[in-house]
Amino acid sequence: MPAAGAPEGQGLSIDTSILSVGFREHDLCTRCGTCGAVCPTLAVSAGRNGFPLLDESKCISCGLCGKTCPGSRVSFPELSCSAFGNAGSAADFLGHASRFLAVHSTDTEVRAGAASGGAVTELLLFMLETGRIDGAVVTGMDPTDPTRAMTFIARTREQILRARQSRYIISPVNQALRGIRKTQDRLACVCLPCQVHGIRKWMAAEPAIRDRIACIIGLFCVTTLDSPVIRELLAARGISPESVDEIRFREGGWPGRICAFMKDGAVVPLHHSNFKDGAINYLTRLYSPVRCRMCPDGTAEFADISVGDAWMRGREGYTHPAMSVVLVRTQAGAKLVDDAVEAGRIVAHEVPAEAVRRAFMTFEKNKKKSAVLRAARRARSGKPAVGLEGDFPECGITDRLRERGASLVHLLGAAPRVRVALLRMLLSGFMAPLVALRRRLKRAPAE
Ligand SMILES: Cc1cc2nc3c(=O)[nH]c(=O)nc-3n(C[C@H](O)[C@H](O)[C@H](O)COP(=O)(O)OP(=O)(O)OC[C@H]3O[C@@H](n4cnc5c(N)ncnc54)[C@H](O)[C@@H]3O)c2cc1C
Ligand code: SF4
Ligand code: SF4
Ligand code: SF4
Repeated sequence: MPAAGAPEGQGLSIDTSILSVGFREHDLCTRCGTCGAVCPTLAVSAGRNGFPLLDESKCISCGLCGKTCPGSRVSFPELSCSAFGNAGSAADFLGHASRFLAVHSTDTEVRAGAASGGAVTELLLFMLETGRIDGAVVTGMDPTDPTRAMTFIARTREQILRARQSRYIISPVNQALRGIRKTQDRLACVCLPCQVHGIRKWMAAEPAIRDRIACIIGLFCVTTLDSPVIRELLAARGISPESVDEIRFREGGWPGRICAFMKDGAVVPLHHSNFKDGAINYLTRLYSPVRCRMCPDGTAEFADISVGDAWMRGREGYTHPAMSVVLVRTQAGAKLVDDAVEAGRIVAHEVPAEAVRRAFMTFEKNKKKSAVLRAARRARSGKPAVGLEGDFPECGITDRLRERGASLVHLLGAAPRVRVALLRMLLSGFMAPLVALRRRLKRAPAE
């Protein structure tokens, strides 16, 4: 088997232009795993860092991986046609949604261990227990390596429960659908927006796949974090990965914090304060992969339902703490939510779309504006850039300055020594009062 998976199509003797982009350009690869799922000859696998690897001897040059790859081209009209049967619009970061809900599971066990309100886990359990699905594509941590995520098909309550919580690191999720054609399984998939794009493209290219995917639950995603993040967080705390049993990203009361569960039974928080105030703000700046910085979809616009944290705020702070915000997008998604409410599995409160919009304005700035500007700027300067198609909003001078500023910070993050030095500073005792001050200011009236 020739060595492959390296950028620029290195080592491949077949025409790389028919293949998905990850074989020739890592900067454009979301590591979604779609190429590994669609390949009819199982020629594609996922490498340790999530990028695809090709066994050239098995490739029949059918071009399906290139056709379904969401890496180098994201066409909102095409994705919208695949999901909703019309060309839609790329302008609104909330996408096409018929209802906006704040949701929590009624099962205290599910809710306690979940990322926000346990909506995702409860809906998966409901679908499994009522025979709507045979299994669910979920992402837990790799039991053999506490720094890596691992996606698998959960077929029991215990397996779905084990995958509760978010892992803010890369896993080539769609790769788990490899072999789906050979079974009669109907599956639910829990996916990040780019992974939803891959599945929708696959459904458009191969309509039979529509019958096999019963439900796509999309997660909101501002970015994922690149692979060194856990090792560098542990190193900054003086912890060796070998002494860690498991990393949990949302441990303790909502919103939780990133903690290392040590082999000796100790639980060590890896940052100040909670995950929202003390970690994610700077980790997303230092560890955002290049491809994520050109990603125009924050709310999984083409899923059946999309789920995020209920970050909506009012005068007294969060209005729906420890709940999931759910955007209902398709008829299948609406029926699932209605049936789960009727069965008493979830509680769902209607929330005004405007409150959700205010809470997630970062998606307007980072996704619909900065990402689109950045992709265009990279294309102009001859760097690998994602082709983004759709009626994205107009950008003004403030948007351009913000994009430049964010790109400068990303540059710092790209230099490992600078990144590690900044991380150590942000985790030091010196930062604790600043994080506490930020929290106090946030508790002040939001409006
Ligand atoms: C990388 C990433 C970025 C996110 N960014 C945001 C954000 O910017 N704003 C926001 O509001 N919410 C974001 N979320 C979603 C949020 O963290 C919660 O997943 C969401 O609120 C659902 O909570 P829940 O309690 O309903 O889910 P739970 O019931 O806890 O279930 C979580 C589900 O997420 C799946 N999952 C975990 N990690 C991954 C992964 N890496 N890839 C795919 N699936 C995974 C698990 O399979 C599980 O089924 C992000 C999630 C991830 C994984
Ligand atoms: S399908 Fe996904 S994993 Fe494969 S090359 Fe494209 S973006 Fe990368
Ligand atoms: S066989 Fe088809 S899908 Fe598989 S790697 Fe080759 S071109 Fe891609
Ligand atoms: S930011 Fe976009 S490309 Fe990156 S993981 Fe999230 S959905 Fe995928």
